[in-house]
Amino acid sequence: MGAFRGCQAASKPPWQTRRCIVFGSRVQISCGVAFALLKNPNTGSTKRHYAFGLANRFYTEINTTIQMAKYKLEYLWLDGYEPVANIRGKTQVKEFKNFPKLEELPMWGFDGSSTRQAEGRSSDCMLKPVAVYPDSTKKNGVLVMCEVMQPDGKTPHVSNGRASIPDDPGAWFGFEQEYFLYQDGKPLGFPESGFPFPQGEYYTGVGYRNVGDIAREIVDTHLDLCLDAGINHEGINAEVAKGQWEFQIFGKGSKNAADQVWVARYLLLRLCEKYGVDVNFHCKPLGKDVDWNGSGMHANFSTTYMREVGGKEYFENLMAAFDKYKNEHIAVYGPDNHLRLTGLHETQSIDKFNYGVANRGASVRVPHSFVNNDYKGYLEDRRPNSQGDPYKIAGRILQTIQTVPTPAVKKAAKK
Ligand code: ADP
Ligand code: MN
Ligand code: MN
Ligand code: MN
Repeated sequence: MGAFRGCQAASKPPWQTRRCIVFGSRVQISCGVAFALLKNPNTGSTKRHYAFGLANRFYTEINTTIQMAKYKLEYLWLDGYEPVANIRGKTQVKEFKNFPKLEELPMWGFDGSSTRQAEGRSSDCMLKPVAVYPDSTKKNGVLVMCEVMQPDGKTPHVSNGRASIPDDPGAWFGFEQEYFLYQDGKPLGFPESGFPFPQGEYYTGVGYRNVGDIAREIVDTHLDLCLDAGINHEGINAEVAKGQWEFQIFGKGSKNAADQVWVARYLLLRLCEKYGVDVNFHCKPLGKDVDWNGSGMHANFSTTYMREVGGKEYFENLMAAFDKYKNEHIAVYGPDNHLRLTGLHETQSIDKFNYGVANRGASVRVPHSFVNNDYKGYLEDRRPNSQGDPYKIAGRILQTIQTVPTPAVKKAAKK
């Protein structure tokens, strides 16, 4: 349907009968009363709109009416399940002139007693929108990531890990989310009993015997859905185990990449519904006694100070703080990590902390570029696992960083 083609009546006295075309319908204006048969291009429904009085008010009214569209807002939040929260979503329909901005989205509520977030007698929890993304699978679809708040709308709910992330626009995170696609209780592509041929050719592999027949369609479609949503995927790859995949997401700002990881997880789970496939985020779904890789979510991180000032001394102090708080880190790096961080399969043991240049068996891997650039740049914490909550991971990393003095800031500022 074409755009509103204008109403000549706007410039004429309202009592004069005029005809004009609005979405192919007739507009009659006579004796100061006007109506128009307007077809809403979004819903296809036709409505008769009346306006009394001045024609220019009428003009404004129909112009506004035809521009409104019904948006499907999918509010997403994390529930209160322990040790791993599930992502939940419900839809509300609201009219907006354009794709809604974050500040236009209202708070909403849900029944917290059904999500382990409240008692039955006072079950309301509030949803505070914090990030918004287009949903290209739906007409006028919107994904609204939310924080869960107490009924006062201001106090973060105890399950709300995002609220405790220090605000830092200069913090950058890149998460490498690994996961297994699962069907009938086993990794996609596993035979009915026993195992497929051992690991070796699956990583970045191609061909039916390596990736089967639907996995690639799922991961490629997921990538497109995420890119359509404005999620900053940096790449995807088939992983070491059969049925195992990875995507990487990078974001600037302390909460940004974590928001995107949760929305990307949601889109993957939802996409897989129609294939009869589940996503298994467990870090060692096949157990620790078999020679099949587990899943991690390496957290690559940097702050403005690390990128611009850095230095060997600061780096060593930072690593000392990571060592000091290793238990606090492990506590939020995902459940069952002792099954994965064994010292085998490119991991360090769960109870040890170490770092190493280009060392994939270390807790923190220091990229060559970091050392070559006077200890400036980003570091990779390899301990977080695939089931970890990126909000809690980002929060913990920044809390530890905040304990390390940054003496050169003053010197740098004086220069
Ligand atoms: P690998 O598998 O070798 O560990 P990937 O390419 O899968 O490496 O992931 C590297 C990650 O590092 C990417 O997610 C990328 O966004 C992230 N990254 C790169 N530069 C920075 C930086 N300055 N700060 C934070 N993360 C970064
Ligand atoms: Mn990777
Ligand atoms: Mn990987
Ligand atoms: Mn990595």
